Amino acid sequence: MPTLRDIQADLERLWPARGAEPWDASGLIAGDPDRPVTAIHLAVDAVPDTAAEAVQLGADLLVTHHPLLLRGVTTIAESTYKGRVLGTLIRGGCALLAAHTNADVVARGTSAVLAQRLGLTSLSPIEPPQDPEQPETGIGRVGDLAEPIALGVLARRLVDALPATASGARVAGEWDRPVRRVAVCAGAGDSLLRASAVLDADVYVTSDLRHHPASEFREQSTLAGGPALIDISHWAAEWLWLDVAAADLREATGLPVTVSDLRTDPWDFAVLPSTQPLDE
Ligand SMILES: [Zn+2]
Repeated sequence: MPTLRDIQADLERLWPARGAEPWDASGLIAGDPDRPVTAIHLAVDAVPDTAAEAVQLGADLLVTHHPLLLRGVTTIAESTYKGRVLGTLIRGGCALLAAHTNADVVARGTSAVLAQRLGLTSLSPIEPPQDPEQPETGIGRVGDLAEPIALGVLARRLVDALPATASGARVAGEWDRPVRRVAVCAGAGDSLLRASAVLDADVYVTSDLRHHPASEFREQSTLAGGPALIDISHWAAEWLWLDVAAADLREATGLPVTVSDLRTDPWDFAVLPSTQPLDE
């Protein structure tokens, strides 16, 4: 029976810690490295629902994409949700580990999976790899569709590929505009808005775009003929990666691995303006 320490070594081969951003907090968050692991559960977020689900399924290890303790906390009282997550997992004998930016950059990482689901080929990273001997790694991916399609059709294809969320896809650009070269960054990708691989693409797909970065990108694109922009759910984009991560984990560990279907996107519904004036 492998111990948690053995599983950590397997994960280090899949998602090497050296690939993580300096500000990140990937790795083991809770758990005894000497305890055995018999089953693993995977989720994007460590929240009370996914923690309870992991314990209910009998998992000894919950692997999440997002680190629960990225910034300092001064309490894990169970009146706080982070305390509730940790209390539930510790009582249930389930460890917690995050594979975050180190799992973004690998060849089968979050952005690569999103790019492949869109049918993009000839993938390369938006930002060059940290390790020049591994050219297939790096942040974000850019690639080509088999043939040009309308921007609106690409947005529809995205919404159909992703699990349902309230926000769907928001698009800056005309529906009919043809796009072929597509840059994608699963998760919050505003740091790549000025990357040359993004500016050379026909459209950039990412999440969590705020007014000013999106507005500046849109206006510069309109003036100088730059890419369109599609904003999708952060959770949905990264949830796509879980099935691939689960397959890799099963192969690396030989253990059963389950994937959470719980939606941890924070938005429950959106109210859009009616196209018809409402009767008062
Ligand atoms: Zn993320």
